[in-house]
Amino acid sequence: MDLRLKKYAKLAIRQGVNIQKGQPLVINAPVETVELVRYCTEEAYLAGASKVDVIWADDKLSKLHYENVETEILKKVSQWRVDQHKDSIDNKSAFLKIVSDIPGNLKDIDPIKLREVNKEMSKAMEPYRYYTMANVGQWCIIAVPNKEWAEIIFPDLKGDDAVKALWEAIYKSVRISNDNDPVKEWDEHNEELRKHNELLNNYNFKSLHFKNGLGTDLIVELANNHIWAGGCDLTQSGILFNPNMPTEETFTMPKRTGVNGKVVATKPLNYQGKLIENFWLRFENGKVVEYHADKEEEALKNLLEVDENSSYLGEVALISHESPISNMNILFFNTLFDENASCHLALGAAYPNNMKDGEKMNKEELLAHDCNVSMVHSDFMFGSQDMSIMGQTHEGIEVEIFKNGNFCI
Ligand code: ZN
Ligand code: ZN
Repeated sequence: MDLRLKKYAKLAIRQGVNIQKGQPLVINAPVETVELVRYCTEEAYLAGASKVDVIWADDKLSKLHYENVETEILKKVSQWRVDQHKDSIDNKSAFLKIVSDIPGNLKDIDPIKLREVNKEMSKAMEPYRYYTMANVGQWCIIAVPNKEWAEIIFPDLKGDDAVKALWEAIYKSVRISNDNDPVKEWDEHNEELRKHNELLNNYNFKSLHFKNGLGTDLIVELANNHIWAGGCDLTQSGILFNPNMPTEETFTMPKRTGVNGKVVATKPLNYQGKLIENFWLRFENGKVVEYHADKEEEALKNLLEVDENSSYLGEVALISHESPISNMNILFFNTLFDENASCHLALGAAYPNNMKDGEKMNKEELLAHDCNVSMVHSDFMFGSQDMSIMGQTHEGIEVEIFKNGNFCI
C-alpha cells in the first residue's frame, strides 16, 4: 500500500474541503478511485463529518449513454437528481470532487448532442451554482490518474507504468512525499500565496510590464479596484478551504481595454482537442490585432472569434518559474495542472470576484467597469525562466515584481 494515498485523502479532507464538526460531505468520484474515496470517508468521519454521501461517476458509462440514448431522452434531467443536489446544499454540505477525465473521451459524439445535453444539465443546476461560485460552502477539486490519460501524457510508457508515472507527478504537484506532512506543507504554501496577494493588493498597481528573451514585451493595465487572489479561500461564514489542489497562482483582472504589446506563449494551448503550438499575440488597446501559430493557427483563430470579447484578456496570473509543477516540465492536458505551471493569461471572461463588488454586477456593469465578459475563458502560458515583471503604481513608482522568472518582492 502506498502511504501517500492516505496522505492525499487527509490533505483533501483537512486542507481541501476542511470539513467541520457536524457538517455533511458529498464526494463526487469516478468508480476507479474507490480506495481513495474510502480513505477520504474515513478521514472525514475522524474530522467529525456528520454524514458522507458518495456520488459515483464513470467516463466510459457517460460515453455509452451518449452513444445509445436519444438526445431528447438524455437531455431530460431527472427531478431526483436536482432534489439530491438541493438537499445537500440545504444541509450546508462541503463538496469534494475527484476528477479523472479521459482526454478526448467524447470526441466522436455529435457536438450538437453534447451541447444540448450539457445545456439542460447546466440549466437545471443553475439555481444552486451560487453555493460554490460565491463560496457559500467549502468545495475542493483534486485529480487521480487513469490509464488513458496517463498514456497521453507519457507516450513512451504503457498501462500501469504510465499510471505510476502520473501518480508520481500528481503527488509532487500537491506536495506529498513519503516523509513529509502535506497538511503542514500546505499551511506554509498558503501563507506564501497570501503574502503575495497582500503585497500586490497593497501596491494597487496601475500596470504590469512583462519582458523576456523570447520577445514578450507586454504592458497589462489592471482593472480599477482589482483584487489579487489565489491559494486558500474563505467561505461566506469564514471557513478556510482550498478549492483547487494543486494551486500555485496569484491572479487578478486585467483592464479590458488596457493591454498593449506582444506576448509569446511558452507552452502549447490545448483548445477543443487541438494543440496550438509556438504562437504569439499582439494587443492594441486590449484587443488581439495580430497573431501567429506554427501549428493549428486555425484553432487559434476560432478561439479569438468565439465572440467579440474572446480576443480580449480576462485574467493575468503570476507563478514563479521555480514551482513543483513547472519544474516537472510536463504537459498534463488538464487545466487543474497546466495553468499552475507558468505565468499565464486567459483570453475571454474575467472572474467578477477579482474586482471589488464585481460579483454584484451584471454583464453590462462589468463591461462598463472594463471587466471582460465572454463565453470562453482559455488560459495560455507565457512564463519563462528569464521573465521580468515591473509594476507601475498610479503615482508612477516602478517596483520589480519578478526577476529571472521568480517573485522578488
Ligand atoms: Zn489562472
Ligand atoms: Zn484561468
